[in-house]
Amino acid sequence: LEGFPYKKVLVLGLAKSGTAVSQLLHRQGIDVVVNDLKAQDDNPSVHLLRSLEIKVIIGDHPLDLLDDIDVIIKNPGIPYENPLLEVAQSKKIPILTEIELLHYLHVNDLIGITGSNGKTTTTTLISEMLKESSIPSRIAGNIGHVASEVAENLAENETMVVELSSFQLMGIEYFKPKVAVLLNIFEAHLDYHKTLENYKYAKANLFSNQTEEEYLVYNADDEQVNEMIKKANAKLVPFSRKSKLPNGAYADDTYIYYNNTKVMKIDDIALVGSHNLENILAAVATAKLYNVSNEAIKNVLQTFVGVAHRLQFVANKEDRLFYNDSKATNILATTKALQAFQKPIILLAGGLDRGNSFDGLKPYMSNVKGMVVFGETASKLIDLGKEIGLENIEKVNNMEEAVKCAFQLSSPNEVVLLSPACASWDQYATFEERGNMFMNSVHKL
Ligand code: ADP
Repeated sequence: LEGFPYKKVLVLGLAKSGTAVSQLLHRQGIDVVVNDLKAQDDNPSVHLLRSLEIKVIIGDHPLDLLDDIDVIIKNPGIPYENPLLEVAQSKKIPILTEIELLHYLHVNDLIGITGSNGKTTTTTLISEMLKESSIPSRIAGNIGHVASEVAENLAENETMVVELSSFQLMGIEYFKPKVAVLLNIFEAHLDYHKTLENYKYAKANLFSNQTEEEYLVYNADDEQVNEMIKKANAKLVPFSRKSKLPNGAYADDTYIYYNNTKVMKIDDIALVGSHNLENILAAVATAKLYNVSNEAIKNVLQTFVGVAHRLQFVANKEDRLFYNDSKATNILATTKALQAFQKPIILLAGGLDRGNSFDGLKPYMSNVKGMVVFGETASKLIDLGKEIGLENIEKVNNMEEAVKCAFQLSSPNEVVLLSPACASWDQYATFEERGNMFMNSVHKL
């Protein structure tokens, strides 16, 4: 942590990243206090940190904690309206996220990926392409490994490929990636960021510290993104699936191009969905900055069938193609999935009721020939199916029944798609659990 100017740090929030960061700071000889409102004494992290003689305060946010610290490193999920953070802001105490530590850990070769959607897919694709090219790299960030912890143990020649959320990007001062990748801006996450402007501001942090030494790979088809990058200083590398570009990556109906040279045929791509083509183009543009060959890119894209639970191809059962898109926990994600197929679809949907209507799905349902619904929103989805004149709508109680029922409703050369348009928490612990149940049931058919 060479150059880290703070002596006493308050780590706010004891999730996986808070626990890792506290240990990292402690290892680096920095004074740490940890505070978490919800954690209990029997929490393994509390136990672990206390065994290292790190001070852990739980159950409360005592304001006097602020008397004796220089900086707060907060969990990205804690809103700035938190009372302790409000006081900290009035006292001008810097509030950072652990991503800022990457700056002090002097990670020079870092690819940072953000956007409203497609982060995990793009991060994975980039990492696979580097791997295929034998470029040593480590994947981290939102995707599962605490970035600062990975950075602390990074080998000299390794590139970090980091998925970054807007929440993480809110808390940086000097951090900058060597290659920034900005995928898209949808009006998601506004409950936390309040306005689209705030949200864009957070995402723009990805490249605001960059200079002309660094690169910004961006989606030239996205209006909000085009607006934002006007302020960028980095070398710009656009990508587009709509128009021919003089530099960067683009696709027409037959090929992917980079700097106007053919990279590979679109038909050779295993991943489905036009939204995924955007993720692919972002990954190609990034990989090309690392001199990854067309052959290596093609090898990855011919075999990569999707990140688990994101429009992931599961199996072909008697000519029915089964796809798991359990990560589609809102309507927008399901509309993307529905647009990915030209074949008739049996849609499996339903889950936690957030009180929203499902009318937003209607314009995208022309290929849907049957629905199997479940969970709290089942009756709303039945109404939707009836409104668009579907004859085949079945309500079921669990995933195994859903899969069997969908198989019966389907014919050869059709798609069975789990894309629930709802969160999973009414029936499952996580969307991963829901997706795994789906896949197990498919394999049992
Ligand atoms: P994130 O990590 O940003 O949540 P994922 O790669 O996990 O994104 O994809 C989550 C879901 O978002 C996908 O199942 C798909 O429905 C949708 N999605 C993915 N990429 C895009 C994109 N480029 N544009 C719009 N929607 C997308």
